[in-house]
Amino acid sequence: MSADSCDVLIVGGGPAGSTCARALKQAGLDVLIMDKAVFPRDKVCAGWITPQVVQELSLDLGDYARGRVLQPIDSFITGMGEQANAEVSYQKVVSYGIRRCEFDHYLLERSGARLRLGEAWKSMEWQGGRWLVNGEVSAALVIGAGGHFCPVARHLGAHLGKEERAISAQEIEFEMTDSQAAQCAVTGVRPELYFCEDLKGYGWCFRKGNYLNVGLGREGNHRLAEHVQTFARSLAAQGRIPPDLPGKFKGHAYLLYAHGNRPVIGDGIMIIGDAAGLAYTQSGEGIRPAIESGLMAATNVLAASGDYRRERLVQYETALRARFGERGEAPALSVLPAKLRLALARALMRTQWFARNVILDRWFLHSQLPALNLSRSAT
Ligand SMILES: Cc1cc2nc3c(=O)[nH]c(=O)nc-3n(C[C@H](O)[C@H](O)[C@H](O)COP(=O)(O)OP(=O)(O)OC[C@H]3O[C@@H](n4cnc5c(N)ncnc54)[C@H](O)[C@@H]3O)c2cc1C
Repeated sequence: MSADSCDVLIVGGGPAGSTCARALKQAGLDVLIMDKAVFPRDKVCAGWITPQVVQELSLDLGDYARGRVLQPIDSFITGMGEQANAEVSYQKVVSYGIRRCEFDHYLLERSGARLRLGEAWKSMEWQGGRWLVNGEVSAALVIGAGGHFCPVARHLGAHLGKEERAISAQEIEFEMTDSQAAQCAVTGVRPELYFCEDLKGYGWCFRKGNYLNVGLGREGNHRLAEHVQTFARSLAAQGRIPPDLPGKFKGHAYLLYAHGNRPVIGDGIMIIGDAAGLAYTQSGEGIRPAIESGLMAATNVLAASGDYRRERLVQYETALRARFGERGEAPALSVLPAKLRLALARALMRTQWFARNVILDRWFLHSQLPALNLSRSAT
């Protein structure tokens, strides 16, 4: 049997993969996306996107909203533990809620790439200057976009899950019945965020139309299920969410940028999105870095003009660093003892000023960081 030949094979059809594929396809390359799932598929995610994401994707919101959930967001409640502390209103739309099963499917179809869905990456061998994947697909370049457990990242040398300091999260998303909606004080335009007392994570409740998404993510997975259950019970007791959540919480893990250290390029290989460990350190937002890395990788691929040796892909690594900074945590007030730092941080986070200017504007909305403009960026 002769191999299915393409210029670029992208393993993973999430936002990173589909965005990269679209940019390459528009430039005339033959692009194939392989994904182990058949779309539409679910992805454990709160589904919060910022206007910068809409801009980077050139998303036509009118078209997108036809038959899909698109929840405008104009305000937030933030809190500590299960206690609300601040309400911040922007008087304009500053974010959107989407459902990942719809969003990812839309982007994948829009990419124009050829698709091999329901097919997992199993192997890849270097043969005659090209990759042969699963013994069936021949590609000059393979881009790993398979999320946190991406097999291409593992092939390139990442020790998935072993020495990594990942975030573990659990969430549930479901369509509320009329009686559940009546017992839900959370509104669509005003999602709620509650930080854990030890500041190692946060919980959220997001209402998107009639869908409710409740979850909690923390550093490490120690007693995660217990934190999630306590959080959900407390919100239900306050009447913020209905008490009868259907089904089980689903879990997933991923790397924050400061904690990631995976190789992102090799001969004929690039790694993008969660597979490269790019999610924003303070908020855990990963869709925007996934999309930006997909666009930056595509820019480098086109500049490489078919020569995909490692040294021709270094621009991508440089562009990531220019955009997201050096890896590793910035030492915050490190002269103070840890307990005092924690007490100070907790007190600050309860104030309205900090909630608006730091938590929301800087950490979650990144209002200081405009959408990626590749004609001006480092690539
Ligand atoms: C609970 C939770 C809540 C979150 N909330 C938000 C949020 O509100 N906003 C935000 O911006 N980010 C959020 N994130 C992060 C965000 O979900 C990810 O950063 C984002 O999905 C990364 O996109 P990606 O394309 O890199 O990977 P993914 O979306 O994970 O896509 C990877 C794709 O690769 C495929 N794949 C995997 N293995 C293989 C294989 N062996 N062979 C073939 N295909 C394979 C998968 O089927 C999948 O389709 C959240 C994460 C979690 C866990």
